[in-house]
Amino acid sequence: MSVIDTQALVIGAGPVGLFQVFQLGLQEIGAHVVDVLPEPGGQCVALYPDKPIYDIPGLPVCTGRELTERLLAQIAPFRAPMHLGQQVHTLTRLDDGRWHLTTSGGLAFRASTVFIAAGVGAFVPRKATIDGLAPHEDRQVFYHPAPDAALDGRHVVVLGGEDAALLTALDLVQSSRCNSVTLLHRTDKFKPENPALDAEVAQALASGRLQLVVGQPMEAEADDEGHLVALQVTTPGDTTVRLPLDTLLPRLGLSPRLGPLADWGLAMERKQLTVAPDTFATSAPGVFAVGDVNSYPGKRKLILCGFHEATLAAFAAAGIVYPERRSLMQYTTTSPRLHELLGVTTPANT
Ligand SMILES: Cc1cc2nc3c(=O)[nH]c(=O)nc-3n(C[C@H](O)[C@H](O)[C@H](O)COP(=O)(O)OP(=O)(O)OC[C@H]3O[C@@H](n4cnc5c(N)ncnc54)[C@H](O)[C@@H]3O)c2cc1C
Repeated sequence: MSVIDTQALVIGAGPVGLFQVFQLGLQEIGAHVVDVLPEPGGQCVALYPDKPIYDIPGLPVCTGRELTERLLAQIAPFRAPMHLGQQVHTLTRLDDGRWHLTTSGGLAFRASTVFIAAGVGAFVPRKATIDGLAPHEDRQVFYHPAPDAALDGRHVVVLGGEDAALLTALDLVQSSRCNSVTLLHRTDKFKPENPALDAEVAQALASGRLQLVVGQPMEAEADDEGHLVALQVTTPGDTTVRLPLDTLLPRLGLSPRLGPLADWGLAMERKQLTVAPDTFATSAPGVFAVGDVNSYPGKRKLILCGFHEATLAAFAAAGIVYPERRSLMQYTTTSPRLHELLGVTTPANT
C-alpha cells in the first residue's frame, strides 16, 4: 500500500472540516480531507440541505447546501485533495512523531498533524433488518448508489418512505432504465421533508410507472444458486406476500456512529474528544479535534463555534509544522503573502 505524505489530514468534510482546510491554508499547511460520505457538507448536506441557517456571521440566510458550496469555493485556492466515501479506520503514532492513518477504501496517510472534524460521527446508512439479506449486500442489495448492471432492465425495489427513498424511486422511474420500480414502505403515507415529493410519487403511482407495496419485509428468499429472488413481506392485514425482485435499494436514512475514533486511545468525555480550549489539541500531540466532536467547558455545537476552533487549531498546528517560524498575525485584508496564497490581486500588492 503506498502512503500519502501530508502536513495535515482532516477527518470529516463537514462545515468545520472544510473551514479547517481554509485556516490551514492561510498557515501554509497543506491538507488532505477524508469523509465517509459521498459528498462534502457533513450534517448540513446529509441532514438539512434545503433548510435555512440564520446564524452564520455575515450571511443573514443560507441553506445547508449553499453554505457548503460557499465553503468549497473559499478553500478552492488551497486545492486540498478530497477522499470521499472512505472512513478513517486507524490512527497510530509513528516513531518520528507523525501519525499513520488508514481508511476503509485502502488509503494510508502519514501526517504531521491530524484534525478530527468528525461531528457526531460517521454517517452510515441504516441497515434493513431482514432475515437472510446480509449475504446479498453489494451483489444485489445496495446501500450506496448501485452499479448500472444492477439497475438496467432489472426489477428494482426501493425500501423506505423518507425523502431519500422517494427520490431514488422517482429518479429510476424517470430514467426508464429498470424493468419495474417498486416502492416498499410500511404504510401508504409518506412524510417527505420536501412536500413536492408527495405529489410526484402520487403521479408516478397513478401513471403505473411506479408500484407501491405496503408492508414489512421479513425474509429474503434465494434460489439454488444463492441469488436473491424475492422478499417475504408481512402486510398490515397480517398476510404474507411474495415480492419478486432483482435488486433491493434500502434507503432508510443515515445514522451517525462515532465509529473507530473511539478506539484511538484519545481522552474522551461522554463520547466527545476532550480538548484544550486555547488550541483544540486532544490528549495526543499533533492531533486536534474541532466542531461537534469535541468537548470543553462552555462548548456549544454551533457551526460558528467550530469555525473559531478551526482557526485556533491551525495556529497551534503551525507551531508543529514550522517550529522555526515566528507566529505571525496577518490580516487577509492587508497581507500580500495571504493574497498570494489565496490567489487574489488587490491594489495593495499590484
Ligand atoms: C437539523 C439541524 C439543523 C441545524 N441548524 C444549525 C444552525 O442553524 N446553526 C448552526 O450553527 N448549527 C446548526 N446545526 C448544527 C450543525 O449542523 C453542526 O454544528 C455542524 O454540522 C458541525 O459541523 P462538523 O463539521 O463539526 O460536523 P458534521 O457536520 O457532523 O460533519 C462531520 C463529518 O465527518 C465525517 N466523519 C465522521 N467520522 C469519520 C471517519 N472516521 N472517517 C471519515 N469521515 C468521518 C461524517 O461523515 C461527516 O460528514 C444543525 C444541526 C441539525 C441536525
